[in-house]
Amino acid sequence: MTGTRPAPGARFFDEAAETRSRADIETMQLERLARILPHAYEHSPLVRSAWDAAAVHPRDISSLDDFYERAPFIDKTTIEHWRTDRRDPWGGLLCLGESELTTILSSSGTTGAPTLSPQRWAPSDGPVPAGLSRDLWMMGLRPGEFMMMVIFTFRGPAFGMAQQFGATPVLVDYDADDMLRFCELSLRYRPTCLYNLSSVIVLAMADACERGGYDPTDVFASYRALVQAGEPLSAKARAVVASWGAPMFEHTNVGDVGTAFQCPEHDGLHYWEDDTLAENLDPSSTAPVADDERGELVATTLVNGTTPLIRYRSDDIVRLTRTPCACGRTHSRIWPVGRKGDGVVVDGRTILPIDVWPAVEEVDACDLGLFQVIREAPTMDRLRLRVGHHASDMHLAGIRDAVAGAVEARLGVVPEVELVPDAELLRLGPPHKIPRVAAR
Ligand SMILES: [Zn+2]
Repeated sequence: MTGTRPAPGARFFDEAAETRSRADIETMQLERLARILPHAYEHSPLVRSAWDAAAVHPRDISSLDDFYERAPFIDKTTIEHWRTDRRDPWGGLLCLGESELTTILSSSGTTGAPTLSPQRWAPSDGPVPAGLSRDLWMMGLRPGEFMMMVIFTFRGPAFGMAQQFGATPVLVDYDADDMLRFCELSLRYRPTCLYNLSSVIVLAMADACERGGYDPTDVFASYRALVQAGEPLSAKARAVVASWGAPMFEHTNVGDVGTAFQCPEHDGLHYWEDDTLAENLDPSSTAPVADDERGELVATTLVNGTTPLIRYRSDDIVRLTRTPCACGRTHSRIWPVGRKGDGVVVDGRTILPIDVWPAVEEVDACDLGLFQVIREAPTMDRLRLRVGHHASDMHLAGIRDAVAGAVEARLGVVPEVELVPDAELLRLGPPHKIPRVAAR
């Protein structure tokens, strides 16, 4: 995108970039790899160590096939060891001096200690990657409008990119106690896009509307897009959002390298292949899996020279397709499925939390969808579940039978179900999600 913005009614923010042919996408990826690989090898001690150990040098890579065949993987364990053994908080990835950074973010830490994410997005460096502008346009936001941001520690670049797009961020804490303010600011500024929702925040917003005497269809009347990130919403939260009358769009990260959003077709999440090179590989053999099959997402940045992840094994299990979307965008789409360590094999089949979820939330007393898969070993004789419930007309034994029946109907295995109050499970995680797999 150079300078001019499209007309407000245009379907694409940058039509040429978003509808590139597969051959053009690959040409661009190779050009960008040719820049990022020598930079990463030169400045990131971890990347250099991985490539030296594999006896590969960036000059050996002259095609995407070379890259897929020869480039070594980086995984979370290697980065973690670099952090602890060498006392490098950046895991051997930082390519700049700390004083050159513009922001330090931290992850929510659902499955461990929060991970630091150092960033450099300085105006003097020129335009930041175009991805988010394309996404915001795709979901219906237009320059000059207000964008409501209900976010926690991942603020900096997110609202900087909204500003660069020409929208004005309105900031509210990611905190149930701040939702009355959310209602007031929505009515006052009439934002058109909201980032982001989780089940807990949805229910807090509904509660704030009730406490404040606001009509939710009025509070949400101006919104063209409500963005949901992290875990899928529970059935109850989805029903609440549907009653507000504004469309919801799912959002996820792509192997800690890029981001992906749904388009108005709501058929998979688009990521931008000129920012992110993603592969979908068999988690055991690392052979490529076919389009539309489940595999592990392996991601390489094509633009982030600050902490360049190169062939990073994300542990995220996704379905990925390169087939162009009905919306006209040609870049790949993903469907998040789960985490690699979350699968448990019962009766010879791998079961992930996402497979259990719909069965749990179809039982009224469990409709917050709070549950854990108990995984004592990768292979188990029985599927064991710890399921949250709230007060209802049913007796505990009835709830237990209903959950077991729903799981059996969907998955063909009879689970062992332990019931605990929802509040007990919610205490296990940060405010917006809980660990979906537990060792006992
Ligand atoms: Zn699309």
